[in-house]
Amino acid sequence: MNLRIPGPTPCPEEVLHAGARQMMNHRGPEFAQILRRVTDGLNWVFGASSDVLSMTASGTGGLEAAVVNTLSPGDRVLAVSIGSFGDRLRTIASTYGADVVSYATEWGEAADPAEIARRLDEDPSIKAVLVTHNETSTGVTNPLEAIATEVRARDRLIIVDAVSSMSSVPCPVERWGLDVVVSGSQKGWMVPPGLVFVYMSERAWAANAGAKMPRFYFDAAKARDSLAKLQNPWTPAMSIYYGMDRAFELMRAEGLEGIFTRHEAVAGYTRERVKSWGLKLVPTDERFASNTVTAVWWPEGVDGKAISKRAREEFGVVLGGGQGKLDGKIFRVGHLGWFTREDIVAALDVLERLLQDAKAAV
Ligand SMILES: *Cc1c(COP(=O)(O)O)cnc(C)c1O
Repeated sequence: MNLRIPGPTPCPEEVLHAGARQMMNHRGPEFAQILRRVTDGLNWVFGASSDVLSMTASGTGGLEAAVVNTLSPGDRVLAVSIGSFGDRLRTIASTYGADVVSYATEWGEAADPAEIARRLDEDPSIKAVLVTHNETSTGVTNPLEAIATEVRARDRLIIVDAVSSMSSVPCPVERWGLDVVVSGSQKGWMVPPGLVFVYMSERAWAANAGAKMPRFYFDAAKARDSLAKLQNPWTPAMSIYYGMDRAFELMRAEGLEGIFTRHEAVAGYTRERVKSWGLKLVPTDERFASNTVTAVWWPEGVDGKAISKRAREEFGVVLGGGQGKLDGKIFRVGHLGWFTREDIVAALDVLERLLQDAKAAV
């Protein structure tokens, strides 16, 4: 199977085997060592000098944790959305009673840092900005560093969904001045779903002290206090930690620069290849095209779902579809985490052939 959806992503055999290890006491010394090593690995990838928290959940749980640990009901927040994951983050904030101001672009576009700056200047009561780093639904990566610069200059909090970017493309949380940053195990980390990672800056911890949104399972202060004892507050997804411990060995061997370069190079190849067939990318400005997932419009008159079905059933290539209003209109090729250029070449070879078949039939 050539699994080319943008998460869950394929895992190396040795990571899967590491995850098959027998259970141990999650409050014992052996697990403490694993948790220490995995946390060191997270700090390395995030570029964090304080410990990144890990919690047992899928990525959405981490987004919920980010919101409830820093905000109070009634707090005004600017929710920047460029696609379905940005919409999700906005919905979490409004569900917990934030006073949400929305800045949404057309899907396919990136957010404009100057527009964010303008809205913050216009409304000094905005306490935090919610933003997606890499919008997996449209294959667009926001100019996060530039956005963070504007938010920092105005001294608001910046809460970032980096679920499908962190570990695959640069996102150094301290260098860029980000406050709360969330990622999830099943995207670029080469491990199965089950863990989320939450970085909180000093500013975020200060906000946490006064944050009144209800929380229990995802209480970051509890997670931090337990981590000081090298434990989790609750029983964690231990098998995922076993796998991550191994995955970090592979990541350290490749090096962060090596990982980023591989993603950039293969993403560039993917874009050039689909454009050479006359197809159009979903990102309207290629400068913001994602290096972890490529989103492409199906050509006019072609039954994309039928092509995806053939790719899966006849060739074992599993493509991502469109989410929400893009259902049936686009396909997505995930190239994040554990993949080689050959995996992507093979998937695109199949797609090219099926597209030719479909066109011949028209
Ligand atoms: C995958 C993803 C999530 C989290 O989704 P889960 O299904 O809860 O893991 C959040 N944001 C982005 C940008 C994602 O790609």
